[in-house]
Amino acid sequence: MRTPVVIGNWKMNGTLAEVDALAQGVLAGLAGLAGVEVGVCPSFVHIARVRDQVGPALGVGAQNLAVQPAAGAYTGEVAGFMLKELGCAYVIVGHSERRSLFGETSVLVAEKVAVALDAGLTPVLCVGETLEERESGATEAVVGEQLDAVLDRCGVAVFSRLIVAYEPVWAIGTGRTASPGQAQAVHAFIRGRVAARDAAVAQSLRIQYGGSVKPDNAVELFSQPDIDGGLIGGASLKAADFLAICGAAAQVGGR
Ligand code: PEP
Repeated sequence: MRTPVVIGNWKMNGTLAEVDALAQGVLAGLAGLAGVEVGVCPSFVHIARVRDQVGPALGVGAQNLAVQPAAGAYTGEVAGFMLKELGCAYVIVGHSERRSLFGETSVLVAEKVAVALDAGLTPVLCVGETLEERESGATEAVVGEQLDAVLDRCGVAVFSRLIVAYEPVWAIGTGRTASPGQAQAVHAFIRGRVAARDAAVAQSLRIQYGGSVKPDNAVELFSQPDIDGGLIGGASLKAADFLAICGAAAQVGGR
């Protein structure tokens, strides 16, 4: 049984007061939700503060981690073991903004997945194609390469310990959502790619959709057979919208 999982990616947002209000708002609405796993990923500097406020009711994660597994002279980096010690459950790895703005390659992302797993964190592995790649018919080649890098580096078994987030780059923060059919097709492709190496692992793998998920499109997206919840950017910055999306996942349920 795959329990849907909804994670808010707060990106580089929030004053202390705003982050407090958002954390409290999400926490207050969680009580009525059953059958959905919920997490939030604040900026590094807000993680401890949010963790202290939400307690065990809400999973907390980070948006990135260092590729170096151990302490050392890596100015500006944050190690997986530090995130684990702070109480993080998740870490987003290979978000398209990391890939496009900070030059993260699929090989580096795969290494980060390995480091995150070794630190006891659940990686949320982001994959997805640009608009140009989709329009040239390269979606499966791009997503396949991003997945294969992790499969080759870490092995298929780790896919039972991570979450994949399919995030078409053209749908992130643009208000342009993949249609449920478009998203389902890529989710089925992802599950099939993993199934080619291990069918049981593929069946248990949770694959989130991300890209302009809003309260009014969440039910239709999450109802697709291979969509197991969402990675939510903009809408996760409003507690009411985020909770409505979590409610949509709870309504659809697991499979
Ligand atoms: C994201 O940043 O991972 C994301 C999905 O953003 P948005 O929901 O704003 O498209």
